[in-house]
Amino acid sequence: MAKSVLVIGGGPAGLGAAKALGSLGIPTVLVEKEDKLGGRPVIEDYHTLIPRKMKPDQVIGPFVSDVQNNPNVDVKLGTEVEAIEGEAPNFKVKLSNGDTVEASAIVVATGFQHFDPKRKGELGYGIYPDVITNLELEQMFSREGKLYRPSNGELPKRVAFVFCVGSRDRQLGVTNVHCCRYGCALSGLQGTEIREHYPEVDVFCYYMDVRTYGTWEYPFYWEPQEKHGVRYVRGRIAEITYSPSDGRLRVKHEDTIVQRPSEVPMDLVVLVLGMEPSEGTKKIAKMLGLAQDPDSLFLVPAEEAASNITSNKAGVFIAGACKGPIDIESSIAEGEAAGAEAAAFIGAKVTA
Ligand SMILES: Cc1cc2nc3c(=O)[nH]c(=O)nc-3n(C[C@H](O)[C@H](O)[C@H](O)COP(=O)(O)OP(=O)(O)OC[C@H]3O[C@@H](n4cnc5c(N)ncnc54)[C@H](O)[C@@H]3O)c2cc1C
Ligand code: SF4
Repeated sequence: MAKSVLVIGGGPAGLGAAKALGSLGIPTVLVEKEDKLGGRPVIEDYHTLIPRKMKPDQVIGPFVSDVQNNPNVDVKLGTEVEAIEGEAPNFKVKLSNGDTVEASAIVVATGFQHFDPKRKGELGYGIYPDVITNLELEQMFSREGKLYRPSNGELPKRVAFVFCVGSRDRQLGVTNVHCCRYGCALSGLQGTEIREHYPEVDVFCYYMDVRTYGTWEYPFYWEPQEKHGVRYVRGRIAEITYSPSDGRLRVKHEDTIVQRPSEVPMDLVVLVLGMEPSEGTKKIAKMLGLAQDPDSLFLVPAEEAASNITSNKAGVFIAGACKGPIDIESSIAEGEAAGAEAAAFIGAKVTA
């Protein structure tokens, strides 16, 4: 049997894995269920990425071209895994396009999905058109190139970001208690972009506490406040309502610094969405018998493994957001590491 590796998922993590494997001269099959590579940031048109303020095409594009132009990588778009039989190094994988792939190792990079904000009814998403998600704000910038209130097309005077929607939330049970990692920093960037392009628009960030990890603290927390006038308000949002008298939203919250309830008029409210394992992640976990966190259902590495990309199943490696919230550059790096581990597992010789 040819020593090939199957990579499931063509987002940042899967691209990192396929690039590493292809450059090691290993026959690789990359299966992506959507009709293009790049994962959520490309498929969903993110606008500008933290931390380097680059476009998805600039960050992920080079990996897409590398993989597409590597003769060792067979990219199968619009394709899903239907069934997996056998054990490493003799997996037999049936694909939705009718092909069968014989794989010696597998990299799972099936990623995440966004939290559905309708599960937090009190925030008014799906009821009031001017309550949008941070993903929709990214798409407003990238697809339409302007900021506006969906209800009337006008420029909002006041914009509120509500942090931690579907994250760190015990009201949802134990499934969504994890931190999304990207949300505070991305809001700092989005708030900055709004203030740079529309200095007349006031921007408020409602937070429990701000988590801008590592080197993200200055550019995405202090700079938005000190250089761009983004205002941070510590408080828990109780409810978002609409007032027909002035056609504006009302953000009702308890300011946890002054310990007072407060109600503030806003024109646009942006919900900062959490991350959950994708349906594909849950499906592949079941197919392969991969260990999952019992609450969040994200994949978890093997207990005894030193590396967090080694799954509980021999010959199967796990990378990126299928294991929990993570940023793009780390997803790519984990994918590359998983590709290298898969290559080592099948004992491939480096051809370069
Ligand atoms: C609104 C928002 C904004 C963000 N902005 C940033 C940012 O600015 N900077 C940053 O670093 N991070 C950001 N992130 C995080 C970033 O999106 C993730 O780090 C990254 O997408 C993870 O890459 P991945 O490859 O693990 O997963 P994904 O991007 O989810 O890719 C997984 C891929 O697998 C495919 N797939 C799933 N199941 C199957 C299956 N069964 N068969 C075949 N294919 C399958 C999917 O279609 C998808 O293409 C943001 C997240 C959100 C929610
Ligand atoms: S990164 Fe910020 S917005 Fe996201 S869950 Fe953590 S604290 Fe909340």
